[in-house]
Amino acid sequence: MEDDELELALALSLLDMKDQQISTPNQMTLHPAVRGNASSVLCNSNAKTQGNSCTQQEDVPGVDNKSLGTSQALYVPDSSTSFSIPNTASVSGQVMKEEDLSKKPRCSKNRRQRRKVAAQQIVGLKHSPSAPPPVLLWFRRDLRLCDNPALIRCLELGAPVIPVFIWSPEEEEGSGVTIAMGGACKYWLHQALSCFCASLERIGSHLIFLKASGDENKDGSSLHTLKTLVKETGAQTVMANALYEPWLKERDDVVFSALHKEGVECKMFHSYCLRDPFSVSTEGVGLRGLGSVSHFMNCCRQNPGASIGVPLDPPVSLPSPTRWPQGVPLDKLGLARMPRRKDGTIIDWAENIRKSWDFSEDGAHARLEAFLHDGVYRYEKESGRADAPNTSCLSPYLHFGQLSPRWLLWDAKGARCRPPKFQRKLAWRDLAYWQLTLFPDLPWESLRPPYKALRWSTDCRHLKAWQKGKTGYPLVDAAMRQLWLTGWMNNYMRHVVASFLIAYLHLPWQEGYRWFQDTLVDADVAIDAMMWQNGGMCGLDHWNFVMHPVDAAMTCDPYGSYVRKWCPELADLPDELIHKPWKCPASILRRTGVVFGQTYPERIVTNLEEQRSKSLQDVALVRKQFEQYVDKRSGCDLVPLPKRLVSEALGVSHWDGAVVTEGKQFLLPVITRMEFKHQLEDPDADAASNPYNAVLKGYVSRKRDETIAFLNETDFTASVMCEGAHRQERLERDYRRMEGLPLAPSNRGRARRTSTAKDKFSVVPGGAIASRN
Ligand SMILES: Cc1cc2nc3c(=O)[nH]c(=O)nc-3n(C[C@H](O)[C@H](O)[C@H](O)COP(=O)(O)OP(=O)(O)OC[C@H]3O[C@@H](n4cnc5c(N)ncnc54)[C@H](O)[C@@H]3O)c2cc1C
Repeated sequence: MEDDELELALALSLLDMKDQQISTPNQMTLHPAVRGNASSVLCNSNAKTQGNSCTQQEDVPGVDNKSLGTSQALYVPDSSTSFSIPNTASVSGQVMKEEDLSKKPRCSKNRRQRRKVAAQQIVGLKHSPSAPPPVLLWFRRDLRLCDNPALIRCLELGAPVIPVFIWSPEEEEGSGVTIAMGGACKYWLHQALSCFCASLERIGSHLIFLKASGDENKDGSSLHTLKTLVKETGAQTVMANALYEPWLKERDDVVFSALHKEGVECKMFHSYCLRDPFSVSTEGVGLRGLGSVSHFMNCCRQNPGASIGVPLDPPVSLPSPTRWPQGVPLDKLGLARMPRRKDGTIIDWAENIRKSWDFSEDGAHARLEAFLHDGVYRYEKESGRADAPNTSCLSPYLHFGQLSPRWLLWDAKGARCRPPKFQRKLAWRDLAYWQLTLFPDLPWESLRPPYKALRWSTDCRHLKAWQKGKTGYPLVDAAMRQLWLTGWMNNYMRHVVASFLIAYLHLPWQEGYRWFQDTLVDADVAIDAMMWQNGGMCGLDHWNFVMHPVDAAMTCDPYGSYVRKWCPELADLPDELIHKPWKCPASILRRTGVVFGQTYPERIVTNLEEQRSKSLQDVALVRKQFEQYVDKRSGCDLVPLPKRLVSEALGVSHWDGAVVTEGKQFLLPVITRMEFKHQLEDPDADAASNPYNAVLKGYVSRKRDETIAFLNETDFTASVMCEGAHRQERLERDYRRMEGLPLAPSNRGRARRTSTAKDKFSVVPGGAIASRN
């Protein structure tokens, strides 16, 4: 087992312990006037082992303040303000038994089935005139019915619920260059809101859309909109699920604090990540390895904090108010605005995105089910394949909160293979949010100071070619075209195109970040910024590799089918040349109709090795110039620490040796690419002579591995027979020896099958001829 996996197992077993405790049966306390209503509208997660589709509240142990409280956080804008405190599950170190763990898969499956049943039921619940004042349920990036703590807590109050969505573009973006909502994301949001409104209508409710765009004018803020709503509806409570972008958290703090001053009870719940990023601590772990997922998981293991808890089932109905407040039509939010041509016709740039995705919560669950039935079994070894659906494609649903990470984690744990690598991805997601809370400038400012001075290219033609998928490198072009057309590409391809932009075109990582933010349907400031910083050589966790735009194909597209799909002009090229068409003989180009510069672009850079060497030399130069940011002993880059980490580090009783001081700044040595450390010794050396050359050669042994797998499969019967024959021979030899009889002549040589090119079993997929000798 790898270290990472061991840690993951430990971290997850810790979750299991806690999950188990949360399911401790407990009676729920409800408002007496509404107990009947609430009992009829809640489905309980903990009832799932009993197989009920939906149960009366009183009959269900487990939906209680405790279980609901597991995923919620008290909203505390600062230490001086306090609001009503929901119960949180108690945490103790009780160890979960083996048989309890083995129940999980069944649990998550039952929950999935029950989600479907709940979705099919329509219960129009009439609001009683004697019911308490309505609750405003402020939806943001939690557009789901399943496992929605704020929604379930609203039901618990038994009051009529008014779901609202406020579109406030200025607040969304914050004060830096975030491009938090690019074009593709806005389009997704529009569609997701439309689907979610329909889901709410199916359970007897409705989603009120409001626009709060006031050019920084306070009258146009979310706060102003909510205050107006409170006045109009008489609501005395506002509930929401927390967001963790620092500027959004700040906004929420201001909003809730102001509403609280006006006597409105405000509750914020945690559910966007598995761990609340503000609760993650390095205590007991230290800072060494900061930025890596193993370090992060270690921190979570050492400081588990509030439990992750059990996913909550969707409600079957929502009590509605007697009078709905006035909203605006969804179109008026301007999220899916399409440009017009001069002749007035619309440029529908999102047509392909529309065809590629189901934007609903049901769509998220359908993807999840499909993945858990199929792709998950190839995920561990083949998640890099661009030509096969081996990853979950759930990122946009997670981003818009149409699927909760907790729900996903539980279902993933329920899969037969319990995929550790996949589960670790959710830790990566949490890590990104933790980093953003620690370094709010992550989306625009390099974390490693010397790299801010790197010499970057300003070649706009190169940038345009990269953005449009016209670099002349088929793998890069296929990925960039997939991104443009569908708003998505898999993780491996994101690495390929990012490496190309940075290491071979020398364009700044911020350009890549911005383009991704505008074109990805899952564009996520935290994840995108963390990944681009890492790829751009200035994040906390240097990529210790560079993807080669041709060699990487061995891993992700060995037979060229991905390139054929997205670059159809190259479709007729043979497998072995499709990733390097410039090597095609003129006769093949003629036959396949490829004309460089006409049907397919010329390569925008041809001297890849030279480009790489230049990039390395530039890095060595800035590391020499800013040597105060390079640790002399280890050769690692030094990163100024944010205050929160400094105080955590200084809070420990012993001096943490990993922290170095320089003036008033605290500098921490961080993971640094071996290649850079070596280059520092000889800045002018070329990349090829660097013994730590980081360029990945792709999955070079793929053909050999596939040959072995193929032969194992086809020769299974033969090998079993052979094994039997050998055993028989051994027995016979022993018997003859014991009896003193002469040994029989050996027949092993004759039994061998000699493989030839004509032998059908020696032909493996991809056309390689396998020799068994
Ligand atoms: C340069 C670059 C930019 C990226 N930008 C984004 C982005 O804007 N939004 C985004 O969601 N992901 C981003 N990623 C991470 C990753 O590529 C996507 O999450 C993944 O490709 C989504 O596909 P999936 O749902 O099939 O992933 P799966 O492999 O099935 O993973 C499941 C989930 O885990 C999370 N996850 C997976 N990989 C990572 C990762 N490296 N870091 C953090 N979380 C991860 C995602 O939420 C994903 O949906 C970026 C990666 C790179 C290299």
